[in-house]
Amino acid sequence: MSVPDLLGRDQFEVDEDEPHIVVDVRICATCADKPCVAVCPAQLYTLGADGALTFDHAGCLECGTCRVVCRAGGIVRWTYPRGTFGVNYRQG
Ligand code: SF4
Repeated sequence: MSVPDLLGRDQFEVDEDEPHIVVDVRICATCADKPCVAVCPAQLYTLGADGALTFDHAGCLECGTCRVVCRAGGIVRWTYPRGTFGVNYRQG
């Protein structure tokens, strides 16, 4: 089974009011490497054609990898989702 197939079995309760990860893309613009793009298993960090970083917390697997590799400080908030929100693994 492929990684996308496995991820497709997860379910998410997305907290639209209080994202558990907040990224300041102005700080990210100063980061040459942007390791978050390569390491996020959910591929939530993406680069536009202009090289600008975008991020969407929906679909986060709560692994914490982006928090570990962020050296520029672009991730200005990283917590686990509030109660009842977040990922439910391998549903269905
Ligand atoms: Fe991606 Fe893991 Fe960071 Fe969530 S915690 S955004 S899944 S690297």
